[in-house]
Amino acid sequence: MELERGLFLAGAFATHAVVGYALVRGFTDADPRIGIVFGLLPDADFLFPAGWRWPFVHRGITHTPLFALAIIVGGYAVGRRWGRGDWRGRGLAAAVGLAIGSHLAIDSLSPKGIDWLFPLRTSWSPGLAVHSPAATALLWTASIGILAWGANGLPSIR
Ligand SMILES: [Zn+2]
Repeated sequence: MELERGLFLAGAFATHAVVGYALVRGFTDADPRIGIVFGLLPDADFLFPAGWRWPFVHRGITHTPLFALAIIVGGYAVGRRWGRGDWRGRGLAAAVGLAIGSHLAIDSLSPKGIDWLFPLRTSWSPGLAVHSPAATALLWTASIGILAWGANGLPSIR
């Protein structure tokens, strides 16, 4: 059971990282590693101590549009102040937004859903098995497709 859960989580983390990487690489001029970091960021809530209560639990505050918006605004501010070239303002914000947004979009479709209207506690979801083998294959195929198509074939967000 422990092994099964470990493999499930490893697969889920890998999928969020791959999707984030592909979106940032395919649609922005920012460093695609930003896609890995911010594609995984919401799941940092696995590090919250077990005794903490909502919203400081898994699929709590770090899985809300409000949190994502705060991170995107932070990315914009950092990019504007210290960024140069591709890292400036909107480019960095777009990269961060695509990555963290992809994580929330995927998780929102899962049975547990996310709290879309946080701080209200309302999670609705279509209950899809987003980390099932079939869904994982679909997400990886789409990501590889974006990478294969290449940055040249896709419109870039600047
Ligand atoms: Zn998550």
